[in-house]
Amino acid sequence: MENMFEDAEPAFAYKSDNELKKAFWMFRAMGFNQLVGLGTSAILNAIKWKLPVNPILKNTLYNQFVGGETLEKIGRVADKLAAYQVDVILDYGAEAKTGEANFDLTKREFIKAIGYASSRVNVPFVSLKVTALASFGLLEKLNPFFRMNAAGFSMDTTQLTESESREWLNMTDRIFQICEVAMNKQVGVLIDAEESWIQNTIDYITMRAMQMYNQKRVTVFNTIQLYRHDRLAFLKASHAAAGSLGFRLGVKLVRGAYMEKEAARAADRNESSPIQPDKSATDRDYNAALAYCLDHLNEISVIVATHNEFSSLYTTAKLREQHLPANNGKVFFSQLYGMSDNITFGLAKEGYSTSKYLPYGPVSDVIPYLLRRAQENSSVAGQTGREVELLRREMKRRGFTTF
Ligand SMILES: Cc1cc2nc3c(=O)[nH]c(=O)nc-3n(C[C@H](O)[C@H](O)[C@H](O)COP(=O)(O)OP(=O)(O)OC[C@H]3O[C@@H](n4cnc5c(N)ncnc54)[C@H](O)[C@@H]3O)c2cc1C
Repeated sequence: MENMFEDAEPAFAYKSDNELKKAFWMFRAMGFNQLVGLGTSAILNAIKWKLPVNPILKNTLYNQFVGGETLEKIGRVADKLAAYQVDVILDYGAEAKTGEANFDLTKREFIKAIGYASSRVNVPFVSLKVTALASFGLLEKLNPFFRMNAAGFSMDTTQLTESESREWLNMTDRIFQICEVAMNKQVGVLIDAEESWIQNTIDYITMRAMQMYNQKRVTVFNTIQLYRHDRLAFLKASHAAAGSLGFRLGVKLVRGAYMEKEAARAADRNESSPIQPDKSATDRDYNAALAYCLDHLNEISVIVATHNEFSSLYTTAKLREQHLPANNGKVFFSQLYGMSDNITFGLAKEGYSTSKYLPYGPVSDVIPYLLRRAQENSSVAGQTGREVELLRREMKRRGFTTF
């Protein structure tokens, strides 16, 4: 397979010299596993003790991985990306909110984001975390009661108390209102995948939203985490159920971001882990899920959400094999803002629909997101090594020292 991701110059053309240097030193620092471990616990303690940690985060992780505090501020980033034919997925940084008033506020924020997206040329999607709109406890309580087979799906809510039933109705209403506005404004809604002990409930809500809003075109996308050993089967079951019930399936394929948390919980409870036995099993299922979606593009739209070069090249090769144009309206690539620019800009240069997942919001709201990014980038052998290598090459090309 040819590799369109080797060229560091177009990958970082959008970065000023100063931004490039900052990114280089940041990824170098994150390459030190122990530093990230220490930094993460120091940040968590500082938050607990109410120490002023936000200014430090703002100048480091936040500037690298987040677009800005408000929609207005991220407009500048979106414009910059548009100049390179790169789209944006708006990611309002709220997660793990509590209280009905906060959930309603967050709903309004999502609806505002959809309005904003529809007014821009390069913002086709917004992403949504169900935990920003619903109580974690309720999602967890319902988790064991979701059923799905080729004929359809259901959720048994009979064990809820009266007030929980009201909460449940409010929660589903909020999500359906958001999806309806999105459908009317022709903006896609990507529902993020979260921890396995609430994911069944998220899957249920998302399947219902797809049934309502994916009749003519795909508005709602579920997220499938292939680091779970049961998710390839789940993808196929979702496809069969969508076929039986007559709606189009939208999926965002990811490997999964909560691996350590999943393993720790399973070990604590003496349960078998939902995670694949090793990385190669995750890679095998991820690429099999990709192949499955690409073989059923008449019924499935897919977002290839990965920083993995092989998976990205595998997709472009399959599209060529099927004589499908790069910009076919059914296959979209996406990487997180601040990561894998070589993939994003490489794909966009070749005409593929490619986007950056662009979080925005106040520093305090995006801390869990920032800590996940720091942890993910703390392995020298993995992603960081690649980022540092590309940044180093571009630093050298622009005549800067890298030691
Ligand atoms: C646009 C976008 C949207 C995303 N949305 C979500 C979301 O909604 N929910 C979510 O959970 N994540 C989400 N992620 C994060 C994603 O799940 C991955 O954590 C991240 O992208 C790294 O995986 P990769 O495919 O990019 O690359 P790689 O570097 O090829 O893969 C790393 C991943 O492989 C898996 N892995 C690593 N070691 C092992 C092992 N020993 N055994 C089994 N598996 C292993 C883990 O999932 C790890 O994150 C998103 C990522 C992107 C780019």
